[in-house]
Amino acid sequence: MSTHPDPALIDDLVVANHILVNQGVLDGFGHISVRDPANPQRFFIARSMAPALVQADDILVCDLDSNVIDERGRKTYLERFIHGEIFKMRPDVNAVIHSHSPSVIPFGVTSARLRPICHMSGFLGATTPVFEIRHSAGESSDLLVRSHALGKALAESLGHHAVALMRGHGSVAVGNSIKQVVYRAIYTENNARLQAMSMPLGEVSYLTDGEASATAEMNDQHLDRPWQMWKRDALAAR
Ligand code: MN
Repeated sequence: MSTHPDPALIDDLVVANHILVNQGVLDGFGHISVRDPANPQRFFIARSMAPALVQADDILVCDLDSNVIDERGRKTYLERFIHGEIFKMRPDVNAVIHSHSPSVIPFGVTSARLRPICHMSGFLGATTPVFEIRHSAGESSDLLVRSHALGKALAESLGHHAVALMRGHGSVAVGNSIKQVVYRAIYTENNARLQAMSMPLGEVSYLTDGEASATAEMNDQHLDRPWQMWKRDALAAR
């Protein structure tokens, strides 16, 4: 039984962990957080563990400096600063996913920019920024966002975008809710796969800025539909 004051939100966060594994966005690594609606200076995230195994009792509370509040000997992820620093800089963001989802990686290490290729991924906007950790951490880092300074630099790269790539590492997706950010992380992976299939075939016709924002607005009205299916599939896989 969860001791958190908002069991429905915590249940959605647990389910989101399992959906993201089941949909190939997270594996043994990566994490999702949600801002506490009752206290915007705090967020919920699992303790450091494989997302597929997360249960309600594994969810911790952190402040925006990424300190665990109810620690009781438990630690969260080394890269918790991704979440705290984005929540700090982006008051509109209520949920954050950091993943290593594989199809996205090539777009962080080449000159090819990730761009919206179909109507399900208009949230990507005109282009997707790439966070180059060398600019902050030098030539010999382990590429992990393991400090406030690196989290802040990543949040600055993200800017007002929905997704930022992390060179040689992965990506971060943000949203105004768990359902929106899960949708975005899944369709970022999907867009990367489709874009990599399209580019060798010839010149790619991407969504215009207007198409990107119109389709994003439309899809935001229907976030519950795929969520219910992904949830059913993730629960069946438990
Ligand atoms: Mn990582």
